[in-house]
Amino acid sequence: MKRSGILSLASITLLAGTCLGTLAADSKDTPPPVVTPAATFSHGAGAPADAVVLFDGKDLSAWKGENGGEPKWKLIEGAMQVNGGGMMTKEEFGDIQLHLEWASPSEVKGDGQGRGNSGVYFQGRYEIQVLDSHQNPTYSNGQAASFYGHSAPLVNASRKPGEWQSYDIVFHAPKPTADGKVEAGSFTVFHNGVLVQDHIPIPGGASAAAKFNGVTPKGPLVLQDHGNPVRYRNIWLRKLDAKPTK
Ligand code: MG
Repeated sequence: MKRSGILSLASITLLAGTCLGTLAADSKDTPPPVVTPAATFSHGAGAPADAVVLFDGKDLSAWKGENGGEPKWKLIEGAMQVNGGGMMTKEEFGDIQLHLEWASPSEVKGDGQGRGNSGVYFQGRYEIQVLDSHQNPTYSNGQAASFYGHSAPLVNASRKPGEWQSYDIVFHAPKPTADGKVEAGSFTVFHNGVLVQDHIPIPGGASAAAKFNGVTPKGPLVLQDHGNPVRYRNIWLRKLDAKPTK
């Protein structure tokens, strides 16, 4: 789980929190209601014309290992499967719209945070949790589609273990302001087509900036190796900060 360079402090903190379950539920933690997503919901056949395609099932050329070496994940039937450490994109990004699909192992092993755990770190800092949350209780802000440690999903829209699931995520990074403060960012997340994070804030204050190792204009997308053979496919994004704002 070691990481290198500018990401080290934040990622080690985040990964340690994830691994150790330090955000365990308290007695007031109520699980989000379960909502079964539509069986016919389309995961999308592919990326729109202006997208950066990060993985189309063929190769790992957009990726490097989290320590900067060659990516070690396994290519299996058009998907890539967690193996030998996390992966990060070679390119770095600011505000983005991200689409990806993931599947937890069909063979259920472990429970809570130990079952189908992975995660998507925006700018190497802010994790949208990947977890097998089908009939798998854990603390709410650590289940699938949570902003890990900060915001539980509105509902639990998880599919069954081994079934493909989708995330569609709009990410706006926290940004420094002219007066030296940090403006909060935001996450909006759809899980299998169901809204689960409704423009929730990504903390931008001084303490939050310290926790997340400061803010950055751009950073890599990182996929977590939490020791479970989670698979990913059809990963693409659109750069939002490259667009006219009006
Ligand atoms: Mg995780």
